[in-house]
Parts: sequence; structure tokens; C-alpha cells
Amino acid sequence: MKMNSETNKGKTCFVYKDIKCREYYGKKNGNVCFGCTVKTSKARIETNDVIVVAEYGDHDHSDTVA
Ligand SMILES: [Zn+2]
Repeated sequence: MKMNSETNKGKTCFVYKDIKCREYYGKKNGNVCFGCTVKTSKARIETNDVIVVAEYGDHDHSDTVA
């Protein structure tokens, strides 16, 4: 399975621990932040060259069946 895929808007998606995240912020240091695509989820990850360097927030997926 590919780790990265392009959405139809050209945004990069990143799959981490079976959670699909969407690129939403590129930092000046080159790291890229991704947000969980689940609406109720506040979780974010920060990556550097597709390596996850930090995780923030908690996944609230109460509306979904994991
Ligand atoms: Zn989540």
C-alpha cells in the first residue's frame, strides 16, 4: 500500500497508524503538519520527509467504527 496519495485538490494525504491525514500546514523549518481527516478528531501529526516527528491532540472517532 502506498503511504502517500494525491487528493483531487492536489493536497498530499498521509496514512499513519491506519489513520488518514490531510496536509494542512507547511512549517518554515520544512516540516509538514497533517490533520486527521475525521471531522470530530482534533489530532494532528507533524512530519519531516514522511517521517512522523510529533503527534498532537487526541483522536475522537466516536462517530466512526474503527
Ligand atoms: Zn483522528
